[in-house]
Amino acid sequence: MKYIITSECVNCGECVDVCPVSAIIDGEEHYFITDACICCGKCVEVCPVEAIHINNKK
Ligand code: SF4
Ligand code: SF4
Repeated sequence: MKYIITSECVNCGECVDVCPVSAIIDGEEHYFITDACICCGKCVEVCPVEAIHINNKK
């Protein structure tokens, strides 16, 4: 299980500041969550547009 950021992201950067393991980086089109993610869920709480979701496929 891993969190993912969808294209709904408006690049506000709020999630970057709350991530305890610095797993969120600025991607080309929108922010991106790397494999360093420990699935704490903090970024989900601060995202103003609900662009962060759990990816259940893996
Ligand atoms: S779930 Fe937690 S560890 Fe994963 S990207 Fe969000 S804030 Fe960072
Ligand atoms: S908080 Fe949401 S909208 Fe803002 S950069 Fe993160 S994923 Fe994108």
